[in-house]
Amino acid sequence: MSRLIIISNRLPFSIDREGDKISVRQSSGGLVSAIKSYFENANDRDKTITEKLWVGVADFPRQDWQAVEQEQNEHEDFKVLPLFAFSDKQLYEDYYNGFSNSVLWPLFHYFSSLAEFKANYFDAYIKVNLFFADQLTPLLHPDDTIWIHDYQLMLLPQLLRGENPELSIGFFLHIPFPSYEIFRLLPTEWKKTLLQGIMGADLIGFHTHDYVQHFIQSVKIVLGVDTYFQNLQYQDRLVKVDLFPIGVDFKKFNSTRNDPTIMRMRDDLKKNFEHKKIVFSVDRLDYTKGLMSRLMAIEYFLNTYPQWRERVVFILNVVPSRDTIKAYDDRKKEIEEKIGTVNGKFSTISWQPIIYRYNHLNFTELMALYHAADAALVTPLRDGMNLVAKEYVATSSEGGVLILSELAGAASELNEALLVNPIDMVDVGGAINRALIMPEAEKRNRITIMQKRLQDYDVVRWVGDFLEQLSIVKREQQKFEVRVVDERIVGMLKDQYEESHKRCLLLDYDGTLAPITRIPSQAIPNKQLIDFLRNLAAEDRNYVTIISGREGDVLEKWFGDLPLTLVAEHGASIKKKGEAWRHEVSVADKWKDQIRPLLKFFVNRCAGSFIEEKRNTIAWHYRNTQGGLGFTRSRELLNNLTQLIQNSPLQVVDGNKVIEVRISGFDKGVAVLKIVNEISPDFTLCIGDDITDEDMFKALEQRTRAYTIKVGYGSTAAKYTIISQAQVLPLLDHLTENAYAGSQI
Ligand code: UDP
Repeated sequence: MSRLIIISNRLPFSIDREGDKISVRQSSGGLVSAIKSYFENANDRDKTITEKLWVGVADFPRQDWQAVEQEQNEHEDFKVLPLFAFSDKQLYEDYYNGFSNSVLWPLFHYFSSLAEFKANYFDAYIKVNLFFADQLTPLLHPDDTIWIHDYQLMLLPQLLRGENPELSIGFFLHIPFPSYEIFRLLPTEWKKTLLQGIMGADLIGFHTHDYVQHFIQSVKIVLGVDTYFQNLQYQDRLVKVDLFPIGVDFKKFNSTRNDPTIMRMRDDLKKNFEHKKIVFSVDRLDYTKGLMSRLMAIEYFLNTYPQWRERVVFILNVVPSRDTIKAYDDRKKEIEEKIGTVNGKFSTISWQPIIYRYNHLNFTELMALYHAADAALVTPLRDGMNLVAKEYVATSSEGGVLILSELAGAASELNEALLVNPIDMVDVGGAINRALIMPEAEKRNRITIMQKRLQDYDVVRWVGDFLEQLSIVKREQQKFEVRVVDERIVGMLKDQYEESHKRCLLLDYDGTLAPITRIPSQAIPNKQLIDFLRNLAAEDRNYVTIISGREGDVLEKWFGDLPLTLVAEHGASIKKKGEAWRHEVSVADKWKDQIRPLLKFFVNRCAGSFIEEKRNTIAWHYRNTQGGLGFTRSRELLNNLTQLIQNSPLQVVDGNKVIEVRISGFDKGVAVLKIVNEISPDFTLCIGDDITDEDMFKALEQRTRAYTIKVGYGSTAAKYTIISQAQVLPLLDHLTENAYAGSQI
């Protein structure tokens, strides 16, 4: 049972005052309708939510809130916490119109030349995010579920997490997350701070797959975070990134066809434009919406398809927005001039092609227009999602045609729209013509397919899906934590170790006894480690084995004079304590000549990658390659190799930033079983970090008093986990009371 706390910059309503009369005006945005619809249904759906709270900045005075608070809380089934105290108007201005809307908004919509990288904007952004955190922290309980919305509050997840590590925190970005080439334009410190801020969440949501991939690439490059598909390991925590394309309240829009007032208004509209087709668009006045390109496309259309003159009207409704920002105000003048030019050029005494209105529409008017329109022209240059497109489809009862920019997030779901490049006049003009001549059956077919999608994944599903995924991530984190070696497990292992008479210690080298280095040959054991191993192996009851993917010669050079068993190349060569090396594989070396040219080809195609040749293995390393390229190339190589080795005695192993080809029939699992069967220990401890170590963990699964530990996060067959390599020696030291001078875990 938990509280659900929604945090967004704006609250879902505002308060109007006219003299002494105060009234509450509910907002109509996508998020507001999503959350409200969910809340209305939540009682039946989600019984784990005990209380709902919405937090945001108050854009009204405290006394106005006091006057309406009781009524508002009774009217809604969620409580509201308005944040006051922005006495420093400039601070809020620099945060909101400054950093949020003059840096993040333009940059994330690929209008980098409009971004104003001013230091005071970023300072204000930090301060306001801190203000949110300071106000919220004292109110939070560890089992609260927090859902933070949008680009104004990107630092808040980390700020709240810092004070309350157990919180379930979700973050959703409603605008695009741009490709790294755009994101990297931000000053280095800002980039880091923003990403660290978001990574405080447990679940991070975006509208499309592209935005998810862009985000993952940025955190990999900027924060060096390890990723496994859409799971990120960050500061010992699993963070999940996924796409949740926001939906619309399908039922509400679709049922407007039964509303007589709306239908009457639609009929009036249609009568006004008798024998004419109506092409409708509605957008906020924003440079991302592509209004100028749209007007140029309309002009091109009227020139190229003169048969439509006097037979079509373009109703262009522009909604006032952010007009205190200069970039917006400039746009308005340009657009109005262009409308004047087009109308001047094509109008006749009884017809003008563009009907322009600059105002807000209420729900009834908007619905009447959606119903009256033969086509909707939605052509933003960039848009996180674009709800107008979805609303138009959901509303349409007579098979309207949607012309949609391929650069809107909605395009990834609405494939049956006429998808266009918004700056390509020929493309958009042609699509307008196609929409107007489209046969009825085709129109209906397209709309029906899209409506089905919108009905299936409506806004309530969107909220439910996000919250469910958030609780799944939380459960996965907890599952992981249960296995983390803690004091209790250390105590148990220590007791077992002390009671036993024959102990088998099976230790991987790279990533377990020594940290991973960029160049494998640099991971030389230091004196401290050598001394530690010497002491460990000197104890009569201990049988210590280093089991590695490395070559025998290297292990011999580093550990040859210690009383240990050494296993090289995943079991291909073994040197038992006090004996000589024995090579288990007798296949001639020639097979490597077949593989090497392919690996060389991949070295050329992926700067920073290199080949490592060992006695029985040939490997391609991509740890030092650029961002996602290494991974992409590794998938291609895997594909090629799998085909190449068919019907041969070879196997391909997909390791940690390395792909290895080796003779099949041996692995670390086979090797440890041989050793354990020979020694018959009454205590076995096996530690490793890599995918190849999973073979050991699996092989030891059924053995009594055998304990397996994986280093690092990730799914594993090991019984226990420790977070990092740095904890391995302190753990062994503590268990064995050896002489390692490291810190205790
Ligand atoms: N909208 C409205 N009145 C208007 C124009 C638009 O209520 O006069 C609503 C519209 O129904 C939609 C939202 O505003 O839900 C616009 O969302 P969209 O994603 O299309 O664009 P945004 O303005 O969020 O960039």
